[in-house]
Amino acid sequence: MRAINILTVSCHPDDIEIACAGTLLKCVQRGDKVTVCHVCNGNMGHVVIPPAELREIRIGEAKSAGAIAGFETRTIDIGDLSVNGCDMIQRDKIVALVKEVQPDLIITHSPTDYMPDHLAVQKLVFDASFAASCPQYGAPGSAKVTPLYYMDNLAGMNFLPTEYVDISDVMELKLQMLECHQSQLKWMRDHDRIDFADFVRTCSKFRGLQCGVEYAEGFTQAYVWPRVTTKRLLP
Ligand SMILES: [Zn+2]
Repeated sequence: MRAINILTVSCHPDDIEIACAGTLLKCVQRGDKVTVCHVCNGNMGHVVIPPAELREIRIGEAKSAGAIAGFETRTIDIGDLSVNGCDMIQRDKIVALVKEVQPDLIITHSPTDYMPDHLAVQKLVFDASFAASCPQYGAPGSAKVTPLYYMDNLAGMNFLPTEYVDISDVMELKLQMLECHQSQLKWMRDHDRIDFADFVRTCSKFRGLQCGVEYAEGFTQAYVWPRVTTKRLLP
């Protein structure tokens, strides 16, 4: 299969590492170009660190994780809890991103996700990736309407994958990327007694159990015209 161009649009700076970094690492290994963009800057994701300071820290953490993997890392830089699926200014920023990146495949959050900001991002991405096909709308140029894949929900809740990717050989690298998000992991370990790396490993192990490998990630996709292909696009 020829190398493809993949755009992943998540909500928070660490969502990729939680849900689909293993798959994206496999994509880079087979020669794909991977661009990851988080829409929110994560500025509300701490009890003690103030938002402006946390924004800087979290953008840096996402860049460090992306550098391990060879992803291009971008942000739309909207404050946490301020993302709105019906906001045309926010949508048009993603239209411009899609027109610039020219992806063959887009990955985002699932419509069954638990978190309001994730759901808003899912709607923005669904709408923007269609609007980007119109040369007369928004930023100059146009992009094709691509297949749209949805990454797993947190803890796999309310999510039945229709496609699995074996990530066994990149599992440790995925966790290394997750550890870049120290503003999140350290707080949870020190104060909440939650080992989030163990949480993510357990979820990947459970998805692996479902498809007969050690570790896996699961996906569903938008089954709407014209986003379905006859080819498998994921590794
Ligand atoms: Zn998130």
